[in-house]
Amino acid sequence: MKKRDYYEVLSVGKNATADELKKAYRQLALKYHPDRNPDDKEAEEKFKEAAEAYEVLSNPDKRARYDQFGHAGMNGSGDFGGSGMSMDDIFSHFGDIFSDLGFSGFGFGGFGGGSRRGGMKQRGSNIRVKVKLNLQEIASGIKKKIKLNKYIPCQHCHGSGAENGETEVCSTCHGYGQVTRTINSFMGQMQTSSVCPTCGGEGRIIKNKCTACQGQGIKKGEDIIDIDIPAGVGEGMQLSISGKGNAGPHNGINGDLIVVIEESKDPDFERDGSNLIYNLFLTIPEAILGTQAEVPTVNGKVRVKIAPGTQSGKVLRLKGKGLPNVNSYGVGDLLVNVNVWIPKKVSKEEAALLDKFAQSENFKANPTEDEKSFFKRIREYFN
Ligand SMILES: [Zn+2]
Ligand SMILES: [Zn+2]
Repeated sequence: MKKRDYYEVLSVGKNATADELKKAYRQLALKYHPDRNPDDKEAEEKFKEAAEAYEVLSNPDKRARYDQFGHAGMNGSGDFGGSGMSMDDIFSHFGDIFSDLGFSGFGFGGFGGGSRRGGMKQRGSNIRVKVKLNLQEIASGIKKKIKLNKYIPCQHCHGSGAENGETEVCSTCHGYGQVTRTINSFMGQMQTSSVCPTCGGEGRIIKNKCTACQGQGIKKGEDIIDIDIPAGVGEGMQLSISGKGNAGPHNGINGDLIVVIEESKDPDFERDGSNLIYNLFLTIPEAILGTQAEVPTVNGKVRVKIAPGTQSGKVLRLKGKGLPNVNSYGVGDLLVNVNVWIPKKVSKEEAALLDKFAQSENFKANPTEDEKSFFKRIREYFN
């Protein structure tokens, strides 16, 4: 395709001044900007054409060469030679013009493989706090207020980091937050992008640093946060509360608050997921004759009927007396593990009585097949 005359592209005279050129280019850039003409190939071509014309005519050396030799003088010379400019070239070269036009920070995505335009917000770091809960709190769920020492936005500069709130477009990256370098390698030209070292990727720099926060936009402060801990959580579980961590520098994005659950040891219960296990100890007469045993639960005590002849190792299941399942609507059970307590010492009279019992057929061990099976008992536990 034959190239149009650069002066014609910008609709300016041969004697146009630098200001006239800039003004003409700004008008065209605004008119054909891809943000205003999404998916319009023709507009994109015009946008590129105007950029190329302006790139040459705004540079006194190139303009003189163009005036003398026309397009022929441009081939193979200058930054972009005769190949025209890519979208990325345009944005990285003329970023200040676009930000003047109000396009900076809009994230011109969607073409040229460039996700790089527009400054990036900095993110505050996450905060981890440990919260220790007892079993009753875990069973019911609980609201906790916690006081955090953390970074909060500086009140003096309203988080901007700038005295009087004044910032300006970063001159290194022209507001795009990233810098692109073209590298000549044996594979041809390659472009690499990296975070702008001057502005840290934000695209803007501070004119005068806020005296209260030294330009950070954040300061150490205190925050009181209500957290809602659901029922059924367990040791080591983490709850992430979005946006309650440290404030991001320069009105950036808040980090998260990570609440790590610690479970204090309960004197009565051991825990197996949402099931609770309680070790009940019966006397020998209670186990032989049966009784009403008192068993604690997370919601107070209950009475449990112990049938006559209950063996040590028997597991009684109290449905729904465990903990709520944190991931579902279910509630676990309370497993009552029956132990028959064997006295560790007895008097002479007791020993004599026990000798008499030992003579009786009723006191000889005579387990059923089920009672003999260790695995049967273990299975009962987990069913
Ligand atoms: Zn400040
Ligand atoms: Zn920069």
